[in-house]
Amino acid sequence: MKITIDGPVASGKTAVGRALARRIPARFLDTGMMYRAITWASIRQQIDFDNEAALSELTKELSIEVILEDGEQILKVNGIDVTDELRHADIESNVSKISRIGEVRSELVNQQRDIASTGDIVMVGRDIGTVVIPEADLKIYLDASIQIRAKRRHDEMRRKGHRIDLEKLVEEIKTRDNMDSNRKDSPLMSAKDAVIINTDRLRIDQVVNLILESIKKS
Ligand code: C5P
Repeated sequence: MKITIDGPVASGKTAVGRALARRIPARFLDTGMMYRAITWASIRQQIDFDNEAALSELTKELSIEVILEDGEQILKVNGIDVTDELRHADIESNVSKISRIGEVRSELVNQQRDIASTGDIVMVGRDIGTVVIPEADLKIYLDASIQIRAKRRHDEMRRKGHRIDLEKLVEEIKTRDNMDSNRKDSPLMSAKDAVIINTDRLRIDQVVNLILESIKKS
């Protein structure tokens, strides 16, 4: 069983995907973490975000190890566990500049396909149903209004002790969505045969139940 979940920033993909994987049960892979890992390494190596050749080379050379255990995901770059650093603001604001580069994408897409080929999986991202595993058993596209998405992300950050202005967050989310939706190579979009779920008025467990119903029907 292979299930893909795509959608814009803060549409609930990770929370829903992780909970769904536990229920099935299946492995869970959040592909955004892989693009974040390349961003982490490029900041550390001080590579300019416009230097496409160097960033493509970096992606090929880096050893990215994705460890999937009990629905959790640990990400190691050249043996270093970077999982906790990948949600920092400097990564968040730069990741879409790196994920638009075609050669970076093709390298990571190959790695994602290898992971998908070894067993049941719920994989979340932007292009999973359209490019990475278009043959998946079920494709989901999650969406929600920008205000709701920003509010959810704002609450999440406050719970973790970070303070950020809600309107600033709305602008940051819009910028990242624009870059992800308008890039040349595999932009964010819903697969033609995806089940589209608007999560504005739904809790995580309700979305998971809707997906489980779709699995039964498919
Ligand atoms: O899902 P998350 O917000 O962690 O993704 C971080 C960034 O990685 C996205 O904004 C997008 O630029 C990129 N991404 C992508 N394709 C994917 C997953 C993430 O381009 N499959």
